[in-house]
Amino acid sequence: MDDLKSHAIVKTHELALKGKNRPWFMRKLTDNLRAATRGAGVERIWKGQLMVGLTLSDEEAWPEVQSRLKEVFGVAKFYKAYELPQDLEGLKARMPGFLEGRSFKSFRITTNRADKRFPMNSEAVNRDLGSFVQHLTGAQVKLKDPELSIYVDIQTIGILVYFDEVKAHGGLPVGVSGKVAVMLSGGIDSPVAAWQMMKRGCQAMYVHFHSYPLVDRTSIEKAVDLVEHLTKHQYESNLFMAPLGEIQKNIILTCPPSYRIVLYRRFMVRITEALARRNRAKAIVTGESCGQVASQTLENIAVVDECAGMPILRPLIGANKEEIVDLAQNIGTFTTSILPDQDCCSLFVPKRPETKADLETVLRLEETLSVDEMVDEAVEKTERRHFTSPEATSATR
Ligand code: ATP
Ligand code: MG
Repeated sequence: MDDLKSHAIVKTHELALKGKNRPWFMRKLTDNLRAATRGAGVERIWKGQLMVGLTLSDEEAWPEVQSRLKEVFGVAKFYKAYELPQDLEGLKARMPGFLEGRSFKSFRITTNRADKRFPMNSEAVNRDLGSFVQHLTGAQVKLKDPELSIYVDIQTIGILVYFDEVKAHGGLPVGVSGKVAVMLSGGIDSPVAAWQMMKRGCQAMYVHFHSYPLVDRTSIEKAVDLVEHLTKHQYESNLFMAPLGEIQKNIILTCPPSYRIVLYRRFMVRITEALARRNRAKAIVTGESCGQVASQTLENIAVVDECAGMPILRPLIGANKEEIVDLAQNIGTFTTSILPDQDCCSLFVPKRPETKADLETVLRLEETLSVDEMVDEAVEKTERRHFTSPEATSATR
């Protein structure tokens, strides 16, 4: 079919439901599609009725465009379409070519007449083309669960014909829901939490805490790899690498071992919140799941939440570890996440941390610390690294 112009036809689900916000969602989706397909052979992006079209420079571009589109949130499904003139007889003449190599006993034609100037309505096109394909192939028309669906979309630019659906993740275009600050550890859970929030339209900025030089840089390297990987969903990311070592040294001087994790967490949250405010993020995201480890009890979650001045979102709170692992494998973060590292949280902590931290005790312990100065100092010493996708990574301070 290389003499025909081809397009990727992108469909959304929820966007259509969003009423007043729809034009803004569609604009954001279009911007994201443009960023996602940079350098992949897309000539033009255009809006049709309930869809976005990406005109391919040639059909060879399809495999790369297909793999990029699968990762764009807000895309529910998409197709490779061929463009023909607005002429049904011309389309029929092409049908043997389109159907070559396909074997099917049942089919249906689904016509959408977006361009109302076309003389036949969609019912008439379904009937006319249906009987043509029936004679051509001997297959039967079957409206429910046919073996082959033939989509005929009559747009102003011409008739688009497409067949095989490619499923994507759906959700909302990244950016429409505002920005969140993801606490990214380098473990399995937090990258999955980030992915979930991006899927719901949030732009993620990442905050990683490390205890370098008290430990090596392995956790930092993992965080960098993970952000590099996750940036393909939002095209641009910032990773903030915040030092926790000095704070940890201060905490162990005055606080009992069983309370250290909860205190580390409260400092992490305060620092993340400060960085979030500077970068106009509206919520904090963690990879916690209820009861997964000692620090993730309801009591400890409550004590950590108490110091936050913005919502802490925990998209994995109700997920089992196996479910999170499955997702991590699907989104491609698992192999990095399981590499061995020296995480700051394992520094100076007891085998049995407190599972029912008591807020009054925590507040009393924090009175022995210069909390505000410690937070300010860590924020000042935080390093930033900027990532872009699909282009190469660039480092800045
Ligand atoms: P993960 O698999 O995401 O590391 P986890 O099961 O190891 O989670 P915890 O160590 O209790 O659980 O961490 C809970 C959450 O706290 C993490 O999901 C992450 O959001 C945040 N967190 C933990 N350590 C760090 C870190 N070094 N830097 C940034 N955030 C962290
Ligand atoms: Mg961890």
